[in-house]
Amino acid sequence: MQNFSSKRLRVAICGAGIGGLTLAVALAQYPDIDIELYEAANSLTELGAGIGLFPRPWKIIQMLGLEDDLLMTTERKPRQGPVPAFNYRKSDQQAGFTFSTLVTNGTLITLHRADFQAVLLKRLPRTCRVNCSKRLRTYTQRESGTIELIFEDNSRTFCDVLVGADGLKSATRATFLTERANWMGSRGRIHEAADVASCIDPVWSGTVAYRALIPGDRLSAAAPGHSVLTSPTQYLGKNGYIIAYPISHGKMINFVAFVCRHDLENTKFDGPWTGPCDKSQFAGVFAHWEPEVHALIHCIDKCLRWAIHTMKPLRSFVSGNTVLIGDAAHAMTPHQGSGAGQAIEDAYILATVLGHRTTSRETVPRALRVFDEIRRPLATGVVEASRMNGRFFSLEEDGGIGFDQYTGPQLWEKLQKLHSAVVQNWEWTWTTSVDGSIQEALRRLEGHDCKY
Ligand SMILES: Cc1cc2nc3c(=O)[nH]c(=O)nc-3n(C[C@H](O)[C@H](O)[C@H](O)COP(=O)(O)OP(=O)(O)OC[C@H]3O[C@@H](n4cnc5c(N)ncnc54)[C@H](O)[C@@H]3O)c2cc1C
Repeated sequence: MQNFSSKRLRVAICGAGIGGLTLAVALAQYPDIDIELYEAANSLTELGAGIGLFPRPWKIIQMLGLEDDLLMTTERKPRQGPVPAFNYRKSDQQAGFTFSTLVTNGTLITLHRADFQAVLLKRLPRTCRVNCSKRLRTYTQRESGTIELIFEDNSRTFCDVLVGADGLKSATRATFLTERANWMGSRGRIHEAADVASCIDPVWSGTVAYRALIPGDRLSAAAPGHSVLTSPTQYLGKNGYIIAYPISHGKMINFVAFVCRHDLENTKFDGPWTGPCDKSQFAGVFAHWEPEVHALIHCIDKCLRWAIHTMKPLRSFVSGNTVLIGDAAHAMTPHQGSGAGQAIEDAYILATVLGHRTTSRETVPRALRVFDEIRRPLATGVVEASRMNGRFFSLEEDGGIGFDQYTGPQLWEKLQKLHSAVVQNWEWTWTTSVDGSIQEALRRLEGHDCKY
């Protein structure tokens, strides 16, 4: 198959997850861009689970005109100013207690992923073709800049810009890093080549997440007045933590239990990374925790296990006319609830640079370099900040915080220090705005301080 187009740019998006779909919706603002989506799955279905979006990505949701539709599905409405986001409890003991509340500037909006996907699909422009059962195998870029995509079913197509939005195990990333490593190897730069090649495969973070949806009425029947029915709550303890919050107008409670073995970070995870599992696989870790935690676990029927994988930081998200976004570029732990938010920011900034009037087939590499310079430092910082949150929530020594030997006022003081460390590490998401990134991208494209 070969598609010809008289449009300014032909953009192929590989992967119709949150990043790929948001990009398609954002690019729809530019009618002279041809958009083609390729998705490996045979239909567009999201796994049922919750997702939280902070004010930075929410601003993009507003700019894309998705807010009203999304708010029809959500429990919490956006508010300006200080808003309580999560209550923190120390829970790895019989008598758990709340020791602080995370207050964000603007609301953390919690959604059902399937609701979010449905809204994005509804807003896809008619001109955007969605091709399911198209798993990218590899691609090649010609000297003219045109890219040939090759799919697992041996079909082929062409584009001017390839966007790898194909998630953690990205085939786009694998092709682009393999090419770069081979190029370095052929010039005798053996160590650099090995370093680049080591970024292809994801690495295990040492943490396994167990996700479930609990019917709200089941929890209220089993544990009337349970904190989670009204307030998003994080239950913290040694070697793990639990996050739980209502979604879909409280009909469901989103539940995620994290079991952390930080000493196993960067080792190989044995067994399938994701799949259905029985709650007995994690319940034992929380057996000595407080009754609120037991009530949640008691109400779980089905759950999914996710061995959380990340990747080594990339030196660039761009190679020629190919660019990576979302988890393909910077898969991170979920401890800042920011992986999807960062994919949304990537999508919006990428659409801004591709849609800009100065971008044509000839100037694509320049536009992509601006994208890389704006997005990579920020996303790479979030990866590390998220990793640190995982340490804080599982009461690790990291960051100078130790808990085991403290009781009474000393324990309280330690927990307040923990809270301050979490705020300092996380506040970028509610104290900064995506406007700065957008303005900076435009400034660079319009030639001020332009290095290209
Ligand atoms: C337990 C957990 C909780 C989380 N909670 C939050 C949260 O609260 N807030 C938040 O912001 N983030 C959260 N995240 C992170 C978030 O889910 C991801 O960062 C986000 O989904 C990444 O979106 P993406 O579009 O980059 O990738 P994906 O959602 O993985 O989409 C990739 C798409 O590409 C397709 N694909 C794969 N390979 C190919 C191929 N070769 N060819 C074509 N298509 C292909 C896949 O089928 C898929 O549809 C959480 C993650 C986990 C594991």
